[in-house]
Amino acid sequence: MNVLVLNCGSSSLKYQFINTKTEEVIAIGLCERIGIDGKHKYEAKGETIKSDAKLTDHKVAISAVIDMLLNSETGVIKSLKEIDAVGHRVVHGGEFFTKSAIVTEEVKNAIRECIDLAPLHNPANLLGIEVCEELIKGVKQVAVFDTAFHQTMPEKAFLYSIPYEMYEKHRVRRYGFHGTSHLFVSTEGAKMIGKPVEELKLITCHLGNGASICAIDGGKSVDTSMGLTPLEGLTMGTRSGDLDPAVISFIMDKEGITAKEVESMLNKKSGVLGISGVSSDFRDIEDAEAKGNKRAKIALDIFHYKVAKYIGAYASALNGVDGIIFTAGLGENGKASRLAICDYLGYLGVEADKEKNDVRGENRDFSKNGAKVKTLIVPTNEELVIARDTKKLLDK
Ligand code: AMP
Repeated sequence: MNVLVLNCGSSSLKYQFINTKTEEVIAIGLCERIGIDGKHKYEAKGETIKSDAKLTDHKVAISAVIDMLLNSETGVIKSLKEIDAVGHRVVHGGEFFTKSAIVTEEVKNAIRECIDLAPLHNPANLLGIEVCEELIKGVKQVAVFDTAFHQTMPEKAFLYSIPYEMYEKHRVRRYGFHGTSHLFVSTEGAKMIGKPVEELKLITCHLGNGASICAIDGGKSVDTSMGLTPLEGLTMGTRSGDLDPAVISFIMDKEGITAKEVESMLNKKSGVLGISGVSSDFRDIEDAEAKGNKRAKIALDIFHYKVAKYIGAYASALNGVDGIIFTAGLGENGKASRLAICDYLGYLGVEADKEKNDVRGENRDFSKNGAKVKTLIVPTNEELVIARDTKKLLDK
């Protein structure tokens, strides 16, 4: 089956065209600055094509993707019939979805109902589904939710300690995100450890520009660091992560700004960018630290400390841990950060091997021989999970 995997952001569209039998990526691309001007990068058959065609909206962008796939020179299909299915990443599935779902009117309505929980993402995800219905007539579509994997969290992990009516009336609770990634790397990690995931206690660390940690008991998410929105939890590239909620009204009063403006500050100007004043990109911060920039050092220290604190908390939640898995941009590539985090965790039985850790972006067990807790690097592949889920559901 050939599955077109779409990840529609508010102004971007990432896509892969995947053969689910061989798991080969036949074509891959990215449309950016949709609605602003437009940039399109497409790669297939060993060639890369970049264009600045105007991408006025998502419909134009998806049309441009289809044109590239069909193009007589660089294309990979001769007719739209060769797109067997489309798999969509959908950010928020609320409490409606515990797993992926074939797109129906009911499913679209549920995604619509979750728009107030993910106002930046769900409208774009829904639009992607509707545009495909229009442009690829009759194609089967599947929605894969970032939140679904975490629907196994117990109440003690997902409820906030606020009046219960806020949950009943407004569905205010912790949902968690990056579920597709946590699921993928835990499954791959279990294979590397050589035991069924059902027999393992794992802590997965998705450390990218957005970052979250997940406690996984026997293959099920029992806690995760992101909450109602992806703002809770770790210090991130530009997001604050956890803080005293009273900070919000304090800043509003002191700066004379609105709650929405503080929320924007916490989402876009905080995290390692806000602390360091250098960048949201860990590579820039590491460079600045190496040149003696004190705030860059503090930003990295805070980040490592917070990750280690969450790992400690989740080792308690799980009553032990067999493996800690690092993934996403920094988790896969940040050698120094992995070691700095592991340095806090000796008491758990974590022993990182510096030489084995000296690698970027590939599957690797970097624990010392005989270490009680395995430390693993597992590159994430959310698109592959979406393609696999799409095939699995449509085969049924
Ligand atoms: P992601 O959101 O998963 O794409 O991760 C993006 C982040 O990964 C970037 O902002 C970088 O901070 C980080 N990153 C990528 N490559 C490296 C590297 N070689 N060393 C340190 N950090 C990296």
